[in-house]
Amino acid sequence: MKPIQMVDLVGQYEKIKPEVDAALAEVIGSAAFINGPQVKAFEQELAAYLNVKHVIGCGNGTDALQVAMMALGLKPGDEVITASFTFVATVEVLALLGLVPVFADVLPDTFNLDPADVARKVTPKTKAIVPVHLFGQNADMDAILAIAREYNLFVVEDACQSIGSEHSGPNGKRKSGTMGDIGVTSFFPSKNLGCYGDGGALFTNDDELAHKIRRVCNHGSDKRYYHEVVGVNSRLDSLQAAVLRIKLKHLDAYARARNAAAAVYDEAFKDIEGLTIPGRWQQSNHVFHQYTLRVAGGRRDALKKHLEDRGVPAMVYYPVPCHLQVAYKGARCPEGSLPVTEELTREVLSLPMSTELDNEQLKHITSTVKGFFHH
Ligand SMILES: *Cc1c(COP(=O)(O)O)cnc(C)c1O
Repeated sequence: MKPIQMVDLVGQYEKIKPEVDAALAEVIGSAAFINGPQVKAFEQELAAYLNVKHVIGCGNGTDALQVAMMALGLKPGDEVITASFTFVATVEVLALLGLVPVFADVLPDTFNLDPADVARKVTPKTKAIVPVHLFGQNADMDAILAIAREYNLFVVEDACQSIGSEHSGPNGKRKSGTMGDIGVTSFFPSKNLGCYGDGGALFTNDDELAHKIRRVCNHGSDKRYYHEVVGVNSRLDSLQAAVLRIKLKHLDAYARARNAAAAVYDEAFKDIEGLTIPGRWQQSNHVFHQYTLRVAGGRRDALKKHLEDRGVPAMVYYPVPCHLQVAYKGARCPEGSLPVTEELTREVLSLPMSTELDNEQLKHITSTVKGFFHH
């Protein structure tokens, strides 16, 4: 059996190697490393795939979040409601900009923002909601967009883990990241659409916002050496765009491979007492950035060790919620204030998930998990 990894990026590369190597050689041969034709072509192709008017490449997903907040003109002291059960990037950029993160709890089955708690957290200072489409499944966007309309708030979707997934709402099917004012994603190598280094992008259907986003990414400048606003330097480089153009063509097939692995996991684990398979939100399909179980009874860490001792890596995403991180702890959201989030951090365990898992590996993973519960 091939050794099992959380993500098999080399195995994936082997299958597209000739095409990728040729594309990289072409960029190097042209020396168009920054803002080359590959970047523009990728932005257009991704916009067509997502059915969104504008895609703007940038340096990484964290930059994309920061640029979104800057382009929306949020000011120090403005409150932004988001999840605490997520990667720290959102909270980090809010803190850097002097914005105030306000955490809402998540739902115990889908791990995504609980709209009822979002509504409870709205104050006169609230300016935006940042739903994180965690692990590859869209949050309840109809409910979140309704709250945003009611209180006149911006919505910035963090689609770093959910690119390609689809939400089915009253206006038909919409791709993840294209429903709010701005959507952001990351092309970090292990993400569902990963490049071979850092990369990110913003999406919007608003021409004016697209212009502001491009300006912020480019040192606050529309015309070289003339600076209208304070900006940053955040670009998607041409080598990464060349890789992404190739991988975008495979993105739906990659999602099918992830779903096939998830279906094997579901079938194997659905009846095990003490184990809960990931819940599905009926208005979204899932692209399984992660396949995340809940392990009851305080046995999560023991299961993790049992798996690792038998050649099955497993990871805890995330062990500490943002509101309890040393850097972001505050009186406003003390321990105990987000009960579902805090329980999840004690119970979740993510299994290997990639486009390359074969039947033999899946069988070893499922039987090793079952072995822990049946002895
Ligand atoms: C990966 C990720 C980010 C940050 O993306 P980078 O490209 O690593 O900066 C932000 N939010 C979420 C939910 C992520 O998973």
